[in-house]
Amino acid sequence: MALPLGLYIHIPFCWRRCAYCDFNTYAQVEEGLKIRYQRALVADLRASAASLARKLGVERPPLGTLYVGGGTPTSLPISFLVELLEEVRGLFQLSPRAELSLESNPGLVERSGLCALRQAGYNRLSLGVQSLEPSLLKLLGRIHGVEEVEASVAWAREAGFENLNLDLIYGLPTQTLKDWERTLAGVLSLKPQHISAYALSVEEGTPLAHNLERGLYALPTEEEVESLERALVRYLRPAGFRHYEISNWGRPGYACRHNLLYWANAQYLGVGAGAVSYLGGWRFKRRNHPAQYLEALERDGNLYTEAERLGELSHLQETLILGLRRQRGITWRELEAHAPPAWRPHLRPWLDDLSATLPPGLLVPTPKGYRLTGRGRDLSNEIFTRLFF
Ligand code: SF4
Repeated sequence: MALPLGLYIHIPFCWRRCAYCDFNTYAQVEEGLKIRYQRALVADLRASAASLARKLGVERPPLGTLYVGGGTPTSLPISFLVELLEEVRGLFQLSPRAELSLESNPGLVERSGLCALRQAGYNRLSLGVQSLEPSLLKLLGRIHGVEEVEASVAWAREAGFENLNLDLIYGLPTQTLKDWERTLAGVLSLKPQHISAYALSVEEGTPLAHNLERGLYALPTEEEVESLERALVRYLRPAGFRHYEISNWGRPGYACRHNLLYWANAQYLGVGAGAVSYLGGWRFKRRNHPAQYLEALERDGNLYTEAERLGELSHLQETLILGLRRQRGITWRELEAHAPPAWRPHLRPWLDDLSATLPPGLLVPTPKGYRLTGRGRDLSNEIFTRLFF
């Protein structure tokens, strides 16, 4: 295994579903199901670690990063999240500098909980802030206000979290440039190490999509969204953040190592309802609904709804697409490492031909490979579709 493995653990529960959310998460779930889910997760983790250890011929598979995400992981008891990390330590060989991330939402974890999580060893906290405008938080159906954000960040610092990510969303209905600038200034005053800023994607069937259809409000125009993106650069760059991936900004040394594994098209294990794994050229997806995941585990242990063996070309295309999401782009060496030996001499002409089909100034050569320009990254979805689909 070239890079140490990444482990993702999914907690599919939230207090309330946000208006824009179509993630695999469930709100107001009865406690009994949550308790059974905790047991199942540990069983799934043990079985997965044992199977991986057998395949690798090692006692404990090496692990470079852990990401406990959701949903809202802190909707389960803090004591369980502490036990979960102990379990991971026992089953995997954690590298000394392992990045151990946990997601939470402001208002759903208190100072004492954060202290317990930090003490257990979680060393990166990601908080779903989304906005610091009360009216936009309401429109998004978030359960927290600005005070909860400030309190959670202060408590996280007191607990000893030195690596803090704050998630933001822009391009929201009714959002003005002034709103966004206020949010950016406010977020910078909280001094995070990392900021993920996602353009809103309207998902079918969500209350937000319904309200847009009914004309309750409208999305900003493309030009307005571009001006929000320019503001992001204007605020974050002088504050010392590097725009290292399409939606991700980090201070030097604070790029999210778990997500870097995804963008390197490296192997990862996903445990829990709906989690995806990519191991040995196979992509597996576990059952989405926690009740079905539990039943499958209790019945015959067949947790998968999808299993796909990626062909060599698909794997190479994915490596290219994921690599180009990064500011630095992708190197020939990285591409060669993901291509069969017979293809290696043809990679440069292949990519030169692909880039020649695009308008100039979007995909450009670097001394070691190719990268998308800023404009290219703004248009990355169209570019990837045009190149490969
Ligand atoms: S907190 Fe996150 S996962 Fe949960 S409902 Fe809101 S957006 Fe979805």
